[in-house]
Amino acid sequence: MIEIEELTRTFGTRTAVDRLTLTIGEGEVFALLGPNGAGKTTTVRMLGCLIGRTSGRAVVAGQRIGDPGADRRIRGLIGLLPEEPGLYPDLTAVQTLDYFGKLHQLPKRVRAERTEELLTRLGLWERRDSKAATYSKGMRQRLAIARALIHDPPVLFLDEPTANLDPEGARAVREFLLQLRAERRTIVLNTHDLAEAERVCDRVGVLRTRLVAVGSPAELRAQLHGSTTRIRLD
Ligand code: ATP
Repeated sequence: MIEIEELTRTFGTRTAVDRLTLTIGEGEVFALLGPNGAGKTTTVRMLGCLIGRTSGRAVVAGQRIGDPGADRRIRGLIGLLPEEPGLYPDLTAVQTLDYFGKLHQLPKRVRAERTEELLTRLGLWERRDSKAATYSKGMRQRLAIARALIHDPPVLFLDEPTANLDPEGARAVREFLLQLRAERRTIVLNTHDLAEAERVCDRVGVLRTRLVAVGSPAELRAQLHGSTTRIRLD
């Protein structure tokens, strides 16, 4: 579903992502694990066509980034949860999802159905007519996740979905991620928390500008505790 080959991005003299090569299968939940500044956000922004790449290649849901018209097609096939939810504070949950559904050119009936389904599943239906400004952090994050899913994309990029949430808010988001996993969506989840990656992901890639390890959570744990090939996560 996602094929990345030698993907590189530099900012001036600084290399943010260095020759990343990785394949993520359909229905796989993949964690990009790494400390601040490791290149996680830069990677998903390149894959989501929000920024260009310096070199390398990537194919997302059959679309090669950089091809003519691929940006628009990829945006229709992916849902992106950015690091900051970036919601419009004066819009209610229903208005928010309706607005983004229109951007994806969904018919009115589909927008209404998807809105009700997502807000119900994310525990926001009761508060559907409240403005986002009145929401808690956890509620805002769940609304941002609903926004990422309004057009029912097969691929999701989630940039630190539980960062800055209290334990209850983080738990609600993780439970929803497990539902998305059961639906066989392909998910790339950025995190700096191995325990979180273990709870929801099939495989983990440790990024420190370069990809330094890839494996199942159990394999990575074994390497972390191994005496010879110790991986540092901080
Ligand atoms: P965090 O968890 O802090 O978001 P990250 O793993 O997502 O970290 P990135 O945000 O991708 O890391 O940043 C990787 C490197 O690229 C950092 O050194 C950062 O300062 C640099 N960088 C990212 N975006 C820009 C930009 N627009 N201009 C200059 N440097 C940038």
